[in-house]
Amino acid sequence: MSDAIGDQARAAPKLAAVIGWPAAHSLSPLIHATWAAREGANAYYAPVAAAPTFEDFARVADGLKAAGFRGVNVTLPHKEHALRYASDASEEARAAGAANMLTFEESGAFAENSDIFGFASALNEIVGEKRSALVVGAGGAARGVVLALAKRCGVGKISVVNRTREKSDAVAALVGGAAIDWAKRDDALSGVDVVVNATSLGMTRHPPLDIDARAIDAGAVVCDIVYTPLETPLLKAARARGCRTVDGLSMLMHQAAPGYRKWLGATAEVDADLRARLEAALAARAA
Ligand code: NAP
Repeated sequence: MSDAIGDQARAAPKLAAVIGWPAAHSLSPLIHATWAAREGANAYYAPVAAAPTFEDFARVADGLKAAGFRGVNVTLPHKEHALRYASDASEEARAAGAANMLTFEESGAFAENSDIFGFASALNEIVGEKRSALVVGAGGAARGVVLALAKRCGVGKISVVNRTREKSDAVAALVGGAAIDWAKRDDALSGVDVVVNATSLGMTRHPPLDIDARAIDAGAVVCDIVYTPLETPLLKAARARGCRTVDGLSMLMHQAAPGYRKWLGATAEVDADLRARLEAALAARAA
């Protein structure tokens, strides 16, 4: 009998999840299942919905912790709730004011922000030295993007342009950057090494980002953190100009790696096979 219990305990999978609202559309379970299958890890990664309030988020996180989950990724609209829920947090999560990873510990939960690592890895993968960047947008994602550019990509000169000026002031101040008026966004495009769309514009069912891509230097790298569609109108226009581009799927794949390694397995390769699986899932969803 005791052997049977021992066998059962040995067979119990390592558990992790993504909490969001909604959660069913998340690509994170596919990313984690792909990595687990590759190395034969006994692991399960679940999509879990939590209604948008902090109380709902905390109830779901408490439940997953009690059920033996090692950690969770956190997506919209809960990234700020995750930081509030945590008993401790990394310096990056505190600076961003948001977390997309919670690791459950005996005494609480540790919050991290792997979106910062994810964006930086995606950009560093395709370009070496970069001195200046223009970030369009000043929401939650933009905070992570400017921190990634300043702390992980070696960009010394960062400007932020956003429709709501007070928010660009605040995001630029995080990294000693400059805020630019929304009306001057096209003028700000020329002469920068990296242009990033960190708004939700360009997403399916949203208007495109209204900037004049012809003002972007042909030698610049253009990044879009939106990944539905994969080729946003901005990336299409940038490619037509001859710019190198980084899409939102690269960031998404890279941000998942720290959680996988911490909770479920050892190897989390971001490669062409993983991208192909995610692109197929996105295409099936769009069909
Ligand atoms: P958010 O906090 O709601 O910020 C939205 C941003 O878009 C703000 O800067 C907002 O400007 C701007 N915006 C929205 N509608 C606009 C309009 N009509 N005209 C001008 N600006 C407009 O959202 P978020 O959390 O930062 O997320 C932004 C996007 O990043 C989402 O599409 C999300 O899915 C994506 N994302 C991708 C990844 C990834 O791994 N690839 C990770 C995180 C987020 P105002 O400040 O003026 O409202």
